[in-house]
Amino acid sequence: MPELPEVETVRRGLEALVKDKIVKKVVVRYSKMVSPEAPVFTKELENKKILDVRRRGKYLLIDFSGNYTMVSHLRMEGKYSVVARDEAYGKHDHVIFELDDGSDLRYNDTRKFGRMNLVTTGEEFQIGGLKTIGPEPQPETLTLEYLTQQLRSRKRGMKSFLLDQSMIAGLGNIYADEVLWLSKIHPQQISNSLTDDEIALLRESIFEELQLAIEAKGTTVFSYLNADGHAGSFQNQLHVYHRQGLPCHRCGTLIERIKVAQRGTHFCPHCQVLR
Ligand SMILES: [Zn+2]
Repeated sequence: MPELPEVETVRRGLEALVKDKIVKKVVVRYSKMVSPEAPVFTKELENKKILDVRRRGKYLLIDFSGNYTMVSHLRMEGKYSVVARDEAYGKHDHVIFELDDGSDLRYNDTRKFGRMNLVTTGEEFQIGGLKTIGPEPQPETLTLEYLTQQLRSRKRGMKSFLLDQSMIAGLGNIYADEVLWLSKIHPQQISNSLTDDEIALLRESIFEELQLAIEAKGTTVFSYLNADGHAGSFQNQLHVYHRQGLPCHRCGTLIERIKVAQRGTHFCPHCQVLR
């Protein structure tokens, strides 16, 4: 599933490729993917200009003229691409935005889990998980005071805390594992047992990890591609994710994989000791 660095990379790609273009027509080939219902969705977007492409957590927010915002969540396998109009539709191209320059913005989703909600601009934060979403993982928004308070007031395993989008926006399975390794915290360590130093290191690790991953244009695990058709390369910089049985980059101990909160979880049993 695309996490913050992958969605941010898609956002940057879309901003470069479709911002300021006008949607001439929308074709919906899988009607459950859009809201409101397809005839309304397509009609409302006709002749609207793409004003901006924003991101909040793992959500893309595309602003159109006429005071519309489309909330797009890629879920497991969603991908956008910009192609020439005469290119044949792919089997999994479900929503097509025909643009005024002769190109198509196409949304492809092999598993059909992605969703697009068109709302009045300003109402996007009433949609799904955006209603309760936690702060963006940046120094100005994810303050040390906030993080300390949230951790200390809960008895939650750290992996599940980091995956909770209402605590911090944007982390998923890959970056939660990586951040815990960087911070030398066991995935099942209870949140209210962290020391001040651990909390400070955790916070810095979150910023550092996401920054590096965005610079590498995200991690390509299965079939994720940026809007410009290129794969991210951060998989070459991962320390624990999908490295079970391989030596820890810090101490040489073999990385282990366990299940935590139903998710495959990777950690170094020497660097990340459960207290
Ligand atoms: Zn280690």
